[in-house]
Amino acid sequence: MKIKVNSKKCTGCHLCELVCSLFHLGVMNTEKSAIRILKDDLDTSINQPRICLQCKEMKCLEGEDVVEEMEKREFVWSRDRIERCPFKALGGLGQDAYHCDLCSGKPQCVKVCTSEAIHI
Ligand code: SF4
Ligand code: SF4
Repeated sequence: MKIKVNSKKCTGCHLCELVCSLFHLGVMNTEKSAIRILKDDLDTSINQPRICLQCKEMKCLEGEDVVEEMEKREFVWSRDRIERCPFKALGGLGQDAYHCDLCSGKPQCVKVCTSEAIHI
């Protein structure tokens, strides 16, 4: 399963970020979300949802002795992986990075995106 993004449809409401942090951590904090909505410099018209691409070759894990399939199921990752992701797909706060685990097959962010900017 992959989540596809159509940034032209994104209204920048941030509901996806809130539901992601709520579902995984029980808090509503846009900075503790695996999906992030990037804004343009003027914080106005352009909204770019950023989310893990679920790569077959996970550059984010390079140099680590871990099992990829296990890591894919984890939501909280180490911050080191943010720098290794060539797509800048991971959000982070403090020492943690937040990785899209696809909500164990039921993506919560997709459910709440009424503009269909993100879909499966
Ligand atoms: S974090 Fe980046 S490199 Fe790793 S699987 Fe996601 S998009 Fe790919
Ligand atoms: S699918 Fe789940 S983990 Fe991934 S960004 Fe959406 S809410 Fe967060």
